[in-house]
Amino acid sequence: MSNDIWSTTQPAGLEPPARSPLLDAKVMMVDDEPLMTELIQACLEEEGYANFVVTNDSRQAMDLLRREDPGLLLLDLMMPHVSGFELLAAIRADRKLRYTPVIVLTAATGADAKLNALQLGATDFLAKPVDASELALRVRNTLAFRQYHNRMLNYDQVTGLPNQRLFDQSISELVAQRRTVGGMVVIFSIAVPECRQLRETIDQATADELAKVLARRLDRFASNENLDSPFATSTERAPRVARLGAEHFGLVMEGVSDAEATEQLAKRVLAIVGEPVKLGLHEVGPSAWIGISVSPTDGDSVEMLRKGADLAATHARSQNTAAFKFASADLHARSYERMALGSQLRNAAQRGELRLHYQPKVNLASNRVIGAEALVRWQHPDLGLVPPTRFIALAEEMGLISSIGEWVIQRACQDAVVWGADGQGELTVAVNVSKAQFTTGNLCEVLRQAMQASGLPAHQLVIELTESMLMDDASAGLGLMRQLKDIGVTLSIDDFGTGYSSLSYLKRFPIDELKIDRSFVMDLPGGDTDVAIVRTVIDLGHRLGMTVTAEGVETRAQWECLQREGCDNYQGFLYGKAVPAEQFERVLALCRTGGGGIDDKG
Ligand code: C2E
Ligand code: CA
Ligand code: CA
Repeated sequence: MSNDIWSTTQPAGLEPPARSPLLDAKVMMVDDEPLMTELIQACLEEEGYANFVVTNDSRQAMDLLRREDPGLLLLDLMMPHVSGFELLAAIRADRKLRYTPVIVLTAATGADAKLNALQLGATDFLAKPVDASELALRVRNTLAFRQYHNRMLNYDQVTGLPNQRLFDQSISELVAQRRTVGGMVVIFSIAVPECRQLRETIDQATADELAKVLARRLDRFASNENLDSPFATSTERAPRVARLGAEHFGLVMEGVSDAEATEQLAKRVLAIVGEPVKLGLHEVGPSAWIGISVSPTDGDSVEMLRKGADLAATHARSQNTAAFKFASADLHARSYERMALGSQLRNAAQRGELRLHYQPKVNLASNRVIGAEALVRWQHPDLGLVPPTRFIALAEEMGLISSIGEWVIQRACQDAVVWGADGQGELTVAVNVSKAQFTTGNLCEVLRQAMQASGLPAHQLVIELTESMLMDDASAGLGLMRQLKDIGVTLSIDDFGTGYSSLSYLKRFPIDELKIDRSFVMDLPGGDTDVAIVRTVIDLGHRLGMTVTAEGVETRAQWECLQREGCDNYQGFLYGKAVPAEQFERVLALCRTGGGGIDDKG
C-alpha cells in the first residue's frame, strides 16, 4: 500500500511527532454493510488508529460490546435484525455500557431519525456517505471528550488519586480475579481526621495541601510494595490507592498471605501517614485509623467490603483502643453463612431446587380469581424451604439473578398455560423482575422465548417492576418499558408508595397496574391517613387508566374498606397464601364450583 512507503522512508534524524494516546482507543463498528466498515476502518487507519472491533451482524453487537468495552462505537441506524435504535436503547440501559460514546451513522437526513437517536442517547451524528475528514474530526473530538469525562468521573480533583468510583471498580476487578484463582483481597479504609480539622480551623487550601502530601506518601508506599501474588504482573500486584472522601483514603490489594501480613501492612501505613507534615507555618502530626475488610471472609460484593472497612475504621476511632481494626471480628459468622449459601445457590437452579408458588390475585367486586403472582422459593436440601427474602439479594450480588429470573419466567409461563386449558378462562400470571434482569438488556428476548415455548399469550403475562428500577435511569427505564409494551405484556408497579412515587413518571411511563404496598393496607381501616393514602392511590391510578391491586390483605375489615374505596383487585392471606402449582389448580377448581375464598372465611 502507498502509505507503507511513507512509514518506511521517513527522513533520518527527524523525530516522529508524539503519538496521541487517543489513537490507542478501541473503536468498534456495527454496520450491516461490510464495505462501509472496511471504508471507515481504512480512513481511521490512515489517521493512526489501530485498534478495531467490527461486526456486520447486529445480533452479535451487544455481546461483543460487553466483552470488548470499546472507547467509541460507530453505529449504523438501519440494519436488519436489530436496528441501531434498539441497540442504542440497550446500550444506555446497560450498567457497564451506559457511558460508552456512540456516533450514529445515518443516510437518513430527516430530523426525526436524528432526534429519536439523540433522545435514545447518541453522542453525535455522521451523515452517510461518510466524509473522511469529518469522520476523523468527530472521532477525535468524541474520544477527547470521553477522556476528559473519564478524568472528571474517576479521579479526585485535588490529589489526582482515583476516586471512590474507580476504587470500587478496582475492588470488583480484584474480587472477580480472586474468584477464579483464589487468594485474598484486602481493603483498607483510612481515616485521617486532620484533613477535615485543618479545613475547619485554618482553611480549605491548607487542608488540600495535607491531602496532597498524604496522597503522595500513600502512592509511593503502593508503588514500592511488591506483594507476593502468583498471578499478576508487578504493576497489577501493587496496592491501589484512592481518595474516598475529604478525610478518607483507601487501599486495595491482593496477594496478602494472611492476617499477620495484613497487620504488618496496616502498621506500615500508619507510620507513613503519621509522619509530621510541615504546611506553611504549621506542623501537623496526622493521626490515622484503619478499618480492614477481607474478601472472601467479609463478603464478595464491593458494597459489603467497603461498608465493612468503613465501619471498622469508625469503630476503631470511636473505641480509640487500636489504630486499626478488622471488620471480620463482627462479620465473620454472618458472611460465612452467606458464602456457604451463595456457593450452593449457584447450583440450585441446575439441581432443580427452585420452586414457584402462586398467590391468587382476586377481583374485589366479583371475588373471582383472575390470576396469580409467581413467588420463587428454594427447596434447600438441609435448610428446607428458603424464602426469597433470604436469597434474592444474595443472588443479585453474585450475579445469579438473571439466570434464576429466566427460570422463573419460563416456569411461570408453562404453568399458566395449563390453568387456561382448564376451562377457567384466561388467567394472568405475574412475575417479579429484579433490577439486574431489567437492565441487562435481554429481558424482552427471554420473555419472547418463554411465551413462544409455552404458548402463553402476551396479554396474560404481567411483569412486576419497582419504582426504583425505573427512576435510577428514567430514560433507559422508559425505553425498556416501551419495548416490553411492544411485545404485549402487562406492566405493573410493585410495592407502590414505598419508593419515589413521582407523579411525573406515572404519567410518562406506560404502566398498566399499581400494586399498593402491604404497609399501607396493614393498618386499614383504622387510621384516617392510611385510608386517605389508599383512596388517593386508587383514584390516581384510575384517573391514569390503571388497574389498582392491594397487597397483603389479611382481614375482612381491610377487604371491606378496599371494596368501599373502589380498589380493583387484591392479594393476601385472607384469600390465600402462595401455594405450589398443583395446589393452586385445586384452588381454581374450588373457585369454579363456587367454594373457596373470602366467603368461607369471613
Ligand atoms: P412481593 O413481590 O411484594 O411479594 C409479596 C410478598 O408478600 C410475598 O412474600 C408474599 O408471600 C407476601 N404476602 C402475600 N400476602 C400476604 C399477606 O396477606 N400478609 C403478609 N404478611 N404477607 C403476604 P415472599 O414470597 O416471601 O416474597 C418476598 C419478596 O421476594 C417479593 O415481594 C419479591 O420482591 C421477591 N420475590 C419473590 N419471588 C421473586 C422472583 O421470582 N424474582 C424476584 N426478582 N424477586 C422475587
Ligand atoms: Ca410482587
Ligand atoms: Ca409487592
